[in-house]
Amino acid sequence: MRPARALIDLQALRHNYQIARELTPGAKALAVIKADAYGHGAVRCAQALEAEADGFAVACIEEALELRAAGIKAPVLLLEGFFEADELSLIVEHDFWCVVHSLWQLEAIEKAALSKPITVWLKLDSGMHRVGLHPKDFQSGYQRLLASGKVAKIVLMSHFARADELHEQASAEQVAVFEAARQGLSAEISLRNSPAVLGWPQIPSDWVRPGIMLYGATPFEEANAVASRLQPVMTLESKVICVRELPAGEPVGYGAKFITQKPMRIGVVAMGYADGYPRHAPTGTPVLVAGQRSQLLGRVSMDMLCIDLTDVPQAGLGSTVELWGKNILASEVAMAADTIPYQIFCNLRRVPLLYSGA
Ligand SMILES: *Cc1c(COP(=O)(O)O)cnc(C)c1O
Repeated sequence: MRPARALIDLQALRHNYQIARELTPGAKALAVIKADAYGHGAVRCAQALEAEADGFAVACIEEALELRAAGIKAPVLLLEGFFEADELSLIVEHDFWCVVHSLWQLEAIEKAALSKPITVWLKLDSGMHRVGLHPKDFQSGYQRLLASGKVAKIVLMSHFARADELHEQASAEQVAVFEAARQGLSAEISLRNSPAVLGWPQIPSDWVRPGIMLYGATPFEEANAVASRLQPVMTLESKVICVRELPAGEPVGYGAKFITQKPMRIGVVAMGYADGYPRHAPTGTPVLVAGQRSQLLGRVSMDMLCIDLTDVPQAGLGSTVELWGKNILASEVAMAADTIPYQIFCNLRRVPLLYSGA
């Protein structure tokens, strides 16, 4: 059997959820498990968190239905609401909570015949300029939802564009826009995503929406003491399947992007970009082999990649390689590949997910 696999530590997932809790006393926390729990397996993650989580958040109804089909009874919020009005009957049937981010959705709710009222999270565009009602429409949107008789509860929400930049004023400005837009409305609010949970304790939020932090990865580029308490949930590992001794001056891999400058020992690992390992990870990207840090060499291929065993004499055929996990942080690999841990998790495919700590 091919040795590439992703180990998922559900105990670490629960630990990270508890950290989100601890950092936001009094708030309720929706565990964000969209995109198959950022590649970690939404159903298994939901099951592992169901006893303690106040609810879950996913992108769309397809993801939400998968949770219900697996027997998850907790509240599930659709972060993009519905894409077509005919989803509303399923939203009612399964008790999904629904973001309303656009006037067309609001109109669809007004027009719909619903057998019972729904819970709406009314989203404000407070400055990110992606989705959300314009501030000038927020109060009237709220009043229209109330007047429609189709809505049992409204939570007011917005989303930060730059909460991961702790020295930036942008988040404070977004809060100010939000506070002005919601003035006089007595409804619960939800603002904080992972970077805001970890880095912006002063920002209010009755409901927080942690995603990436649950999986143990930091949303920050710089080292952060609070984020360092998170435990990585996923360990992507494989094994050395071939060892090469090369003299100086020999190329390694496609495009001869790495040339040995001295005699080297090279290990070939069963892991490639078809598994989701980033093809843009350059020579020097950290890996752990036989318990020791080493580095990637040359281009990542579809099913294999090469690593340096020159100074790891204990490593050889069959040695375990951690591509990311508890020793090599996904954020380090992401940084080296000029991307973010969110993307490298979501890109994971083909490798079996093996769970522990359920
Ligand atoms: C994805 C998402 C989150 C979670 O973001 P993280 O940075 O992963 O914590 C929260 N809120 C909304 C609206 C989202 O789309």
